[in-house]
Amino acid sequence: MRMSQMLFSTQREAPSEAEAESHVLLLKAGMIRRLAAGVYALMPLGFRVFKRIENIIREEMDAAGAQELIMSALLPAEYYQESGRWDVFGTEMIKFKDRNGRDFCLGPTHEEIFAYVLRQELQSYKAMPKTIYQIQSKYRDERRPRFGMIRSREFVMKDAYSFDVDEQGLDASYQKMYDAYCRIFDRCGLQYVVVHADTGAMGGSGSQEFMVKSDIGDDTIVSCAGCGYAANSELAACPDAAASTETMQQMEKVHTPNAGTIEELVGFFGLGAQKFAKTLLYIADGKIIAAMVRGDREINETKLKNYLKCASLDLAGAADVRQATSAEVGFAGPLGIKADRVIVDKEIPAMRNFLIGANETDYHYKGVNYGRDFCSDDVCDIRLIEKGDPCPVCGAEIEIVSAIEVGHIFKLGTKYSEAMGCKFLDRNAKESPCIMGSYGIGLNRTMQAVIEQSCDKDGIIWPDSVAPYNVIVIPVGAANEEQMALAEEVYQKLLDAGIETMIDDRDERAGVKFKDADLIGIPHRITVGRRAAEGIVEYKPRRAGKAVELNADEAVVKIIETINV
Ligand SMILES: [Zn+2]
Repeated sequence: MRMSQMLFSTQREAPSEAEAESHVLLLKAGMIRRLAAGVYALMPLGFRVFKRIENIIREEMDAAGAQELIMSALLPAEYYQESGRWDVFGTEMIKFKDRNGRDFCLGPTHEEIFAYVLRQELQSYKAMPKTIYQIQSKYRDERRPRFGMIRSREFVMKDAYSFDVDEQGLDASYQKMYDAYCRIFDRCGLQYVVVHADTGAMGGSGSQEFMVKSDIGDDTIVSCAGCGYAANSELAACPDAAASTETMQQMEKVHTPNAGTIEELVGFFGLGAQKFAKTLLYIADGKIIAAMVRGDREINETKLKNYLKCASLDLAGAADVRQATSAEVGFAGPLGIKADRVIVDKEIPAMRNFLIGANETDYHYKGVNYGRDFCSDDVCDIRLIEKGDPCPVCGAEIEIVSAIEVGHIFKLGTKYSEAMGCKFLDRNAKESPCIMGSYGIGLNRTMQAVIEQSCDKDGIIWPDSVAPYNVIVIPVGAANEEQMALAEEVYQKLLDAGIETMIDDRDERAGVKFKDADLIGIPHRITVGRRAAEGIVEYKPRRAGKAVELNADEAVVKIIETINV
């Protein structure tokens, strides 16, 4: 590709809208352009990277025996209504009516649709196993689109679905996808960890996520060097707390003017946050639920949601809090609260003489003890695991880091096949629901995750496997005929060898060309400069950074060997 003819522009300044290094680089390198919050255009250079990732995925899916097709992104409500997810997705689903008043949505994920279409194809056990996939746009109206393509409202996903006659079949199909995912992310040059994950709204019996460690990740993963345990923190079990041996004190109501937050209470009483028990109010499927954890802990909403088995869970607004507590926000406690249920974290019964809100503005109770002063039928693990907690499996020290989820695989079981009537006749002519698995990879996210792991102060450093072009040839002086002639010769030789190459034939200063080449992250650079008359060029790999002078033909051979390793 000749850069003089390419639709391409770079920016020197970081755009104000960008929040993450990889997002800044994508914008500065002209790979993406923003259309709306969480909606992006992929420009030619960015689209080439995207297509290479897509091809890697397609090759590995095909090699694993999966078959590609494409469903529609425009989908009628009825399939999601049949499975119950029309309501579960809530406002995240982009819903609308067509001209006849029929409900439609833009597909956020396609389990129902595959189950519906496949039920017409898989009527006998003889037709299975089957794994089917598509590479298609998905739509989710995220509350907070962030970090460019990491959390966007439109993105392309490779979603695959397996159909088996029994659990062993599912295990085998799942393992094939697991292995294919490892090859895909290896080929994309990503460092990743595979963690146990929550099955959440998807249902099913088991699930793993492919995670790329990064500060901008939405997920938190817990890992243990001792036993190899790795899980999404949403799922990680917290240890049982040792029971306090303090003597029980009298419970006493205390006037706490204007002390409604844990910080204010810590200041007011001069006690650590671990001496308090905080009560948060949620609306779970329309009902008010109170949830209690120690003052210095965080509630794990996934655990809470799974325990309640509810479809929706949101923090209650101020009006609901006032109604449930008869007080201003900040004074909620378990005594006399008007909530459907009070869910108590299992750490609370191990505490002694703690403080709680009194459900009265400006009042708290101190000297409170579970079992004597209040009880609940719902004592369970609802807190977030944190640094300092032991590994749930072996008790060793755990590491907690942020991560980007690039892939997710699920053993769905029969949830969607039951709901959608995707059934087959087994060997005994008995009707059974297909056993399903579902397997997703976010392509845009994978592309940006590569940058998160592979960049420096000058720009992106693409691995050869996904680079938009592998080589850039830069003639230093556009007006110098010798330099231009040798640059053209090298460019042509690389093209002839099937190497994706660009030549910076723009009438620009050398400094601009070098800066752009580094910013867009082309892995190999050949500079044709002052020694062009002798047939000598300079070769510089983007990553290692050290330039060497070589005879032009040697440079071409070296690059061909490096890329084809
Ligand atoms: Zn461990």
